[in-house]
Amino acid sequence: MPLPPMRITVLGSGTSVGVPTIGCHCEVCTSTDPRDQRLRPSVLISYAGCNVLIDTTPDFRTQALRARIEHLDAVVFTHSHADHLMGLDDVRPFNFRQRNGIPIYASQATMAAIQRCFPYIFDTAKQESNVPKLIPHVIDTAPFDVLGLPFQAVPVLHGSQTIFGFRFGAAAYLTDHSRIPDESMELLHDLDVLFLDALRYKPHPTHSTVEQSVATVERLEPRRAFFTHICHDLAHERDGSLLPPRIQLAYDGLEIDVEGRE
Ligand SMILES: [Zn+2]
Ligand SMILES: [Zn+2]
Ligand SMILES: [Zn+2]
Repeated sequence: MPLPPMRITVLGSGTSVGVPTIGCHCEVCTSTDPRDQRLRPSVLISYAGCNVLIDTTPDFRTQALRARIEHLDAVVFTHSHADHLMGLDDVRPFNFRQRNGIPIYASQATMAAIQRCFPYIFDTAKQESNVPKLIPHVIDTAPFDVLGLPFQAVPVLHGSQTIFGFRFGAAAYLTDHSRIPDESMELLHDLDVLFLDALRYKPHPTHSTVEQSVATVERLEPRRAFFTHICHDLAHERDGSLLPPRIQLAYDGLEIDVEGRE
């Protein structure tokens, strides 16, 4: 299947509380390097005139304004933790402009959580004011097509919970995870670009560390790897420079072009 060229824009590279973290005066939270200011984790995938968003963070409105997103064609959800979901209501301006529903893709468990968090969106009774207009698609591990780009859910363990990362063409985005099962590693060969959770150096029960994600990169050998979901323990310049050559710390606003394939 031919793959369109795509651009991946990092809308947020931070952990759940963001960086700077409220009330913190550490070196990274007070850094003047703009790459140390990290909104909650999300990427935008642009190809063939389409914009597909992974996760609607609590910062989504700010992220959409900052990246000048003019239209939104689909949203794909990794899981329902607040840092990946709570900006969903802010897709409404896209509904107004586009005058149609936006398809959303999520596992059964994530879709059920979205419906619990935002019951008014799915209330079929006549609404008095505008609510997001969404077209839900429940996905599993079967490949699915989003406006001409093939997507593959990649199950990962996030603590004891199984959630989804995604492969799309020659790129993959694996945010929150503490372990990648072997069957999922098999889905991640021959990648140009791989995003991985790398929260910090210290172990965490539900997140990958820098050391663990470096090991994942060494096993999978993508051409380029970007670490995301980063907390205030990592300074972009100081800690990014310690990484092996093919790995970089992602930062908000980073744009990555991925070539198409015939
Ligand atoms: Zn998260
Ligand atoms: Zn701090
Ligand atoms: Zn999470």
